[in-house]
Amino acid sequence: MSTALPELVVPDRLLLGSGPSPVPERVLRALAQPTIGHLDPAFGALIEDTMERLRWTMVTRNRTTLAVSGTGSAGMETMVVNFVAPGERVVCGVNGLFGERMADELTRNGAIVERVDGEWGRAIELQRLIEALDGQTAALFVVHGETSTGVCQSLDGLAEACRERDALLLVDCVTSLAGQRIEIDAAGVDVAFSGTQKCLNCPPGLAPFTASARAVERLFARSEPCRSWYFDLRAILAYWREDVEGAPPRVYHHTAPINMVYALREALGLVLEEGLEQRWARHQRAHEALREALATLGLERLAPDGEALWSLLAVRVPEGIDEAAVRRRLLLEHGIEISSGVGPLAGRVWRIGVMGAGAAVEPQRRLVQGLAELMGGDAGEAVARLEAGWR
Ligand SMILES: *Cc1c(COP(=O)(O)O)cnc(C)c1O
Repeated sequence: MSTALPELVVPDRLLLGSGPSPVPERVLRALAQPTIGHLDPAFGALIEDTMERLRWTMVTRNRTTLAVSGTGSAGMETMVVNFVAPGERVVCGVNGLFGERMADELTRNGAIVERVDGEWGRAIELQRLIEALDGQTAALFVVHGETSTGVCQSLDGLAEACRERDALLLVDCVTSLAGQRIEIDAAGVDVAFSGTQKCLNCPPGLAPFTASARAVERLFARSEPCRSWYFDLRAILAYWREDVEGAPPRVYHHTAPINMVYALREALGLVLEEGLEQRWARHQRAHEALREALATLGLERLAPDGEALWSLLAVRVPEGIDEAAVRRRLLLEHGIEISSGVGPLAGRVWRIGVMGAGAAVEPQRRLVQGLAELMGGDAGEAVARLEAGWR
C-alpha cells in the first residue's frame, strides 16, 4: 500500500497562556536546519556558543551552564538528584504548583523536606525562609517565578543566609528567565534551571541549567553514584564541557537533542540582540499595559503590587462569568490560548502569559478585543487603555 496519509495540519494559535509561548519564525527556521551528529566538531562549536549565550542570559560566569535534555521539569530533577542526597534536610518554599512539585520531587528522592508554606498568590516572607534554615540544612529551594499564581519571589538575603549555614541556594527560574530580572551570580544562586517554552520562545524540550563552582565541587566530592542514570550531571558534563578534569572532550552519554539546541541558540540570539535590560523593561511594560486594559473588563490582578511576575499575569475572574466557556470560545473562535487556574485557584483565575514575543502590543490587542467581546465589555475602551500603556 502506498496511500499517502493526510498531511499534518496545525491550527493557527496565539499562545498567551502559561506556556508554551509564541515561537518566532527565526526559531522555527533554526529548528528545521539539517540534523548533524552530536559528536561532529561543528556541533561542538554550536554547543560552546549556546553555553556562552546562556551564561549571558543568566548573568553568570558559571562554567557549568548548559541545557538538560527534557522540559523544565527535567531541570528540576537534575537539580535534585545531583545536589540533594537522601536523608539531607532541605527547606522548600511552597506557594504554588511548582513549589509543590519540588517538595514532591525532593520527598521522592529521600530528602527530609521542611516546607515553608505561603498563600497561593503571595510571595513568601523572606524572614520565614531564613528562619527555617539551620546548621543541618543542605539546601534552600524557592521558585523565583511561580507560574501558577503570577508571583515573583524576592531572593534578597537568601544567598547570604544560605552561605552562613553552608547550604546551597536552589532556584526555579523557568518562567522568569529572560522576562524578569534575575542575575544568577549577583543573587548568589548556586543552582538554577529554566525551560525553553516560556520567556525564551522556543518549543518545549530543553532545560537551561546552571551550577556554581561551589555546588559543582560538592557534586564531584560525592562518592555514591547519582541515582538517576539519565540526569547524572557528572556524565552530562563530560559531554557538554570540554574542560572536565581527566576526561577526553565530549564523551557520549546520550544523544543531544540537536535541533532543539539550534532553536535554543537562535532564541538566545534574539535575547542578546534585544539586550537584557531592554527585555526585562519590555516585559514589565507589557504586563502593566495589559493589567490596565483588563481592569476595564473587571479583571483584577491576583498578585499585590511589588510581588508581580511580569511574565505571567493572573487575574481574578468576576462572579457570573463562566470562565471555562469563555476560555474555550477564545481558543476556538479567536485562536487565542490562555490558561485556567490550578489547585486552589481552579475556576477562579485566568493566567495570561506575557512571555517574549507575546509581550507585545499586537498580540495583546487581539487578546483584549477577544476577551472584551466574549465578556460583553467595551473593547474600544480596553484597547485604548492597552495602547496608552504602550505609549
Ligand atoms: C513550566 C514550569 C515548570 C515545568 O516545566 P515543564 O517544561 O512543564 O516540565 C517548572 N517550574 C515553573 C515555574 C514553570 O512555569
